[in-house]
Order: sequence, then C-alpha cells, then structure tokens
Amino acid sequence: MPDRCICPHCEDTADFPEQNRRDLFAFLYMAMELGAKAVPESGSRLALVQPCYTSFGLAGLSEYFAYMGRRIIESLTDSRHWVLAMLALEGCQRMPDVAEQLAEVAVTSLKISTLDTTRMIEVAIEYVKRLRVSGRTADRERRFYQYLVDAFANLVVREKGFDAFLDFHDRDWYKADESVRDRRGTL
Ligand SMILES: [Zn+2]
Repeated sequence: MPDRCICPHCEDTADFPEQNRRDLFAFLYMAMELGAKAVPESGSRLALVQPCYTSFGLAGLSEYFAYMGRRIIESLTDSRHWVLAMLALEGCQRMPDVAEQLAEVAVTSLKISTLDTTRMIEVAIEYVKRLRVSGRTADRERRFYQYLVDAFANLVVREKGFDAFLDFHDRDWYKADESVRDRRGTL
C-alpha cells in the first residue's frame, strides 16, 4: 500500500479543498453503501478505499469512516472475510480515533462469529501470517494490526486467564508474531 494515494481526490495537505472533501465523501459512500450489491465481499470494498485513509482523516471524514467500518465489521459472519477485512483496514490509524475503536469491534465480532477461543486464535494467526506492512510510521504511531493484536490478546486473556498463554503457545502464536517482525525488518 503506498503511503500517498494517487486518486484524483486525495491531497497531501492539511488545507483540504472543499470540492475534494465532497468527492471523497461521495467515493466513500459509493464504495461502502452502493457497492454492497456490486462487490458483496466487504473486505474488497474496504481495500478499494484503503489508499485514501490518510485523506479521509485530513478531510474530516474519520467519524463517518468509523461508522461505516463498524457496520461492515458487525456484518462479517465468516472468518475468511474477517481476515480480508482486517488486512484492508491496515492504515486506518491515519484517521484520528478510528483504529482502536475498530480493533475492539473486530475482536468482539470475531468472538461472536467463532464462539470458540481456540478457533479465534487460529483465525488471528491466519491474519498475522498474511499481514504485510510497509512504509514508515511516524514516531510512536501504532499501526492498526498492533491495536488489533492487543485487543485480541486482552479478550482471550479475559476469557481464559492464564491458560490463554498455553493456547497461544500451542498454536505457534509467538512464531507468527516473530515472522511479522522479520518481514518488517527486511522492508
Ligand atoms: Zn485517494
């Protein structure tokens, strides 16, 4: 994912032109609402708008995106779609107050759809294995996956207490985490 979007509405400036703001809003609305019939897979709809996350933030559309994101996440019933949607949300930390909120909604939704901690850990490992992060982050900026992994670990530990660590260990969670760090190291 490029750091900057090359779509015609995105401007890399805090002084966001009103016309572009309206175009971006229309684009987001189309991709999320009208696109539901044309592109039923919600992860793909999120991937469509993923390059514009920075601009949504600059254009003041963070709250609207968070609302859309929540609705999409709550509609996910399938773990494969959950993984795709989570991958497409990478970068949403560039919009103020979105990443932490959506990470919480996402782990709750995963819990409701899987109903089983062991299965949840398997889905989360699948996500971590497929994750590719690129580009630099601002000092101390946390990426979406870090919010998500934190929210996930908190939920599992709340459910299972200390046994959760054994579950993580048995499923090679710690190895999956190392492989993200290795990939980041080579980027
Ligand atoms: Zn854009």
